[in-house]
Amino acid sequence: MKTIGYAAQDSSAKMTPYHFERRTLRSNDVAIEILYSGVCHSDLHTVNGDWGPQPYPLVPGHEIVGQVLEVGKDVQKYKVGDRVAVGCMVDSCQTCDHCEHDLEQYCRNGMTPTYGAPDRISKEITQGGYSKHIVVREEFVVSVSDKLDISKAAPILCAGITTYSPLRTWGVTKGTRVGVIGLGGLGHMAVKLAVAMGAEVTVISRSKTKEKEAQAIGAKGILASTDEAAMQAAASSFDFILDTVPVKHDFNTYMPLLELDGTLCLVGQIGPMEEPMTMPLVFGRRRIAGSLIGGIKETQDVLDFCAEHNIHPDCKIISPDQINDAFKDLEKGDIAYRYVMDMSKLAV
Ligand code: NAP
Ligand code: ZN
Repeated sequence: MKTIGYAAQDSSAKMTPYHFERRTLRSNDVAIEILYSGVCHSDLHTVNGDWGPQPYPLVPGHEIVGQVLEVGKDVQKYKVGDRVAVGCMVDSCQTCDHCEHDLEQYCRNGMTPTYGAPDRISKEITQGGYSKHIVVREEFVVSVSDKLDISKAAPILCAGITTYSPLRTWGVTKGTRVGVIGLGGLGHMAVKLAVAMGAEVTVISRSKTKEKEAQAIGAKGILASTDEAAMQAAASSFDFILDTVPVKHDFNTYMPLLELDGTLCLVGQIGPMEEPMTMPLVFGRRRIAGSLIGGIKETQDVLDFCAEHNIHPDCKIISPDQINDAFKDLEKGDIAYRYVMDMSKLAV
């Protein structure tokens, strides 16, 4: 199937229109017309080579919603016209213990990311959601409830699941005191989800500039990490902190904020961090952890959770030809929402 998208041709992170082919449907494949595609900071990290050399041309995008155009002959769950979504993975071995326990993101044989990796069968490089169509095996397609506004659902597929999964893993519930570091795409979803779970949520931001946005989505307010007195006053006042900062930073600043046995979970920076200081860990039995996206079942769970609680990401809808400006804004880190591309603006 002929399609069009936006691709990076090299590590300059400049996106340009790109015509390419999607594979002919295998018996278990679903062909999807992409309606909206979210812009994640991981897309920017990947195309500009922060995570190593990439197979260019590369079409990023792993926050994908759309409708089914065609199904392979053995597809059971979906039919033409269904509202569906695809997140950060498009395949895994399906047989290892992690896959069998709905943890495909930790597949022992390596999951296949939505873009930039060889397909398990054809070895063709996967291409992501900054495009008009995608073809994905049925097991990696999830359903989008009619209760969700499809124009705002895409960021649930990465920003949503990446924050929902650790909030669930660490048992966030009514009354849990949660801190969210960084009010961007992931951070603002973490706030909405944790608030819906009954938690008491504070945003830990570089300044108070985004306080209105934080309160509007249910946070108590902002603790400015640059305000030393406020940081000292907040010592031992969080049970769980989710760190979404996208660059190398000093998490030692945040560790004293945790209560005894509290956990700081990293989901942002992938790569080196400033040297850890053991003092706040040892003297408060505090923990540092990490978490990667979520499994397919959990991705369906977060979509259903958002439908049930009427949670929609805050989206700024743009047309695909504005992607380079959106990347510039992401780089600056001064947005408290998600850019989402309206893919109907792309003609094949
Ligand atoms: P984003 O929208 O750019 O938000 C990141 C936020 O971090 C910014 O809004 C900003 O918040 C804060 N920040 C930015 N630069 C900073 C700096 N130099 N120092 C301290 N804080 C800074 O990015 P995103 O899409 O939410 O993604 C966040 C990170 O998560 C990225 O690194 C992405 O690759 C990663 N990610 C990981 C997974 C996973 O599975 N673990 C999945 C998806 C994304 P304030 O202005 O409030 O400080
Ligand atoms: Zn992402």
